[in-house]
Amino acid sequence: MKLNRVFIDAAVDRDEEVEYLITKTGITPEVVQNSQPVYDLINGSDDPIAFAKHLLYITENRGAVIRECPGTSHYTCCDYTILHTGTFCTMDCSYCILQAYFHPPVLQYFAGLNRLSGALDKVFAKKKILRIGTGEYTDSLIWEPISTMPAFLVEKFAGQDRAVLELKTKTVNVDSLLNLEHNGKTILAWSVNTPEIIRSEERGTAALAARLSAAKRCAEKGYKLAFHFDPLVLYEGCEQAYERVILSIFDHVAPTEVAWISIGTFRFMPQLKPIVEKRFPGSTIPYGEFILGLDNKMRYFKPLRIALYKRLAKVFRETAPDVLVYYCMEDREIWEKTFGYFPGKDGELGHLLDQSAAKRCGLNTSLL
Ligand code: SF4
Repeated sequence: MKLNRVFIDAAVDRDEEVEYLITKTGITPEVVQNSQPVYDLINGSDDPIAFAKHLLYITENRGAVIRECPGTSHYTCCDYTILHTGTFCTMDCSYCILQAYFHPPVLQYFAGLNRLSGALDKVFAKKKILRIGTGEYTDSLIWEPISTMPAFLVEKFAGQDRAVLELKTKTVNVDSLLNLEHNGKTILAWSVNTPEIIRSEERGTAALAARLSAAKRCAEKGYKLAFHFDPLVLYEGCEQAYERVILSIFDHVAPTEVAWISIGTFRFMPQLKPIVEKRFPGSTIPYGEFILGLDNKMRYFKPLRIALYKRLAKVFRETAPDVLVYYCMEDREIWEKTFGYFPGKDGELGHLLDQSAAKRCGLNTSLL
């Protein structure tokens, strides 16, 4: 995290969590009464997206701390729950949806571990298995070097048996988590891609080998893992390159240590294209054979998606037949033609993931 300026909302309580964060940034925060001066500063810069990656705004989350993942009815959804701990990211992937999602983009840290804790206690009291992640609107572990929040969450989840926490990242920031009493209730998850795509499209992220070494270190400490092949990008030779990534994962960790793996080809809101063209002029990522999907996102032409998925499904079957591999947002035809089945009923994919979480992480199976 390379910050130039830090702003703090005057309403934020300067407790231990916040003082630790400020100390770690090494920057004296500028106090603001509301977010407007921060928005104005970002909007006034030449490249607001790049500018916002170096400006931290410490504030409170005034909205819902826990939210349902905004899936769509047109594609099979995994019934995920989002823990809203911050927004935006310090890394810079060309395809990052967050570039087009926030107006303006702001790197916000939502202070208030007590509020988080209270919201989680309510969730843990439900007679329901939940998969909860912080990696929807930010990278879960960019915060680890400056904040106690990731460690706090790991220890909070360790004290119950109804929910798993998934921390999703493209970093290798796991040091403060390794020796925690996690009780198996945290899944450390890496988004993975081929070394070519990481080099060309994922600026500032850790190399694939480093991500897999970090995953191995976590597995050695008893953490369960997940991997997300998202986005799969089509380019010449990509089939073999993605196959090598799968093999490389299982050279580092055993299939029994993996709770799930998701796969999904590149898809994007049409408004992302001009942003990529402007900010990443060397990127070819938005120029494939795309069609507009039912969710108003551009997706690769279906036969191209099926061809790649079939190759990868075969490798997963051969290397890790017991690991749950699923599609993020694909339809019945894709599932049936590549995996030979479709989790058709409403909530069925979510149920399969809950079962895997229960099995790998020791959740209360009477709630399944
Ligand atoms: S790591 Fe994730 S959140 Fe960060 S820029 Fe890349 S895609 Fe966006």
